[in-house]
Amino acid sequence: MNKQLILALSKGRILDETLPLLADAGIEPAEDLGGSRKLLFDTNLPDVKLVIIRATDVPTYVQLGAADLGVAGKDVLLEHGAEGLYEPLDLEIAKCRLMTAGVKGAEPARARRRVATKFVDVARRYYAEQGIQAEVIKLYGAMELAPLMNLADEIVDIVDTGNTLRANGMEPRELIADISTRLVVNKAAMTMKHETLKPLIERLRQAVAKRRASQDVSA
Ligand code: AMP
Repeated sequence: MNKQLILALSKGRILDETLPLLADAGIEPAEDLGGSRKLLFDTNLPDVKLVIIRATDVPTYVQLGAADLGVAGKDVLLEHGAEGLYEPLDLEIAKCRLMTAGVKGAEPARARRRVATKFVDVARRYYAEQGIQAEVIKLYGAMELAPLMNLADEIVDIVDTGNTLRANGMEPRELIADISTRLVVNKAAMTMKHETLKPLIERLRQAVAKRRASQDVSA
């Protein structure tokens, strides 16, 4: 039986918070990730390899079985649809909120609201549920600029401290979803590689619980 597990990690901000959590669970890259252009890494566990890819590609890798499991933000999973994936564990890192936001003090004027976002499907679903007519425009970055440049009335974006919005004269409006980073597992792998997957998920679950307990004590 193939026992090898490929774990797909999201590059960037999430990676910085994922690596210490993996270390707490006893999983460490065999070499320094920063000093390399490599994307595939061995770990201290002979059965586990890491791939480090764009956050938005993680659900695709795991869904199609190129990776057995992955670490991805709930925002990315909501937008992807995440069919064919199990989501067994909330890693409780990189917490933030997916929100609508607009220019401070300005009422959304148009009957058909124009919304700029990279979360096109999430935004379409949200406005439809609210019974608000919306024209959703896909942007790849600097969402805060869209209302200032009259490209959109509102944006749907990730808000952490709210500093980015405030610095651009904008304010958060409605909460769409609380976001955190999740462990996702390929459905077929969950059955076929259960023996190697289960202890790994359990180690991560314990690392998350241990952190939560130490945060509760220090709070
Ligand atoms: P802030 O100014 O603290 O509200 O941060 C907002 C910006 O940081 C957003 O435009 C996001 O792109 C990014 N950001 C904050 N938290 C996260 C997260 N957990 N995952 C991904 N991006 C984030």
